[in-house]
Amino acid sequence: MERTLSIIKPDGVSRGLIGDVIKRFEGAGFRIAAMKMIYLSKKEAEGFYAVHRERPFFQSLTDFMSSGPILIMVLEGEDVIQHNRELMGATNYKEAKPGTIRADFATDIEKNIVHGSDAPETAATEIAYFFNSLEIVGSIEQNP
Ligand code: UDP
Ligand code: MG
Repeated sequence: MERTLSIIKPDGVSRGLIGDVIKRFEGAGFRIAAMKMIYLSKKEAEGFYAVHRERPFFQSLTDFMSSGPILIMVLEGEDVIQHNRELMGATNYKEAKPGTIRADFATDIEKNIVHGSDAPETAATEIAYFFNSLEIVGSIEQNP
């Protein structure tokens, strides 16, 4: 069983797409193990995207990510990291496969609705950036 961090970005929240996105996650059989809505400060957005600090889009990206509320989730399932990336589609919505979240909803390479961790190590770091262990709930089988 694997866990990944998912974010519905400010564009997804402000455009009323929370339900559409979560419907796809549940439809894919992912279990939502944690969820909360937060509003990142610029500094918090910079911390989250620190790996992209040197990239030309870093300032714009962190301005965007701190421009409105976001919904953050821990998703759980078998191979959920890769599976979620497939549901999301390519970073650039113009290259995303039809039927993916980004192909269907994104309007811009930056404003692309969702974030998803890209590997087990980044998933662990990203989940820990937002959630403490008590905020991540187990399934019926996992609950002691
Ligand atoms: N991004 C951007 N311009 C680019 C590449 C990325 O604005 O040329 C933004 C976009 O919002 C993307 C985020 O930066 O989702 C992080 O980039 P990454 O390459 O990690 O893409 P992702 O993992 O989100 O598909
Ligand atoms: Mg990434």
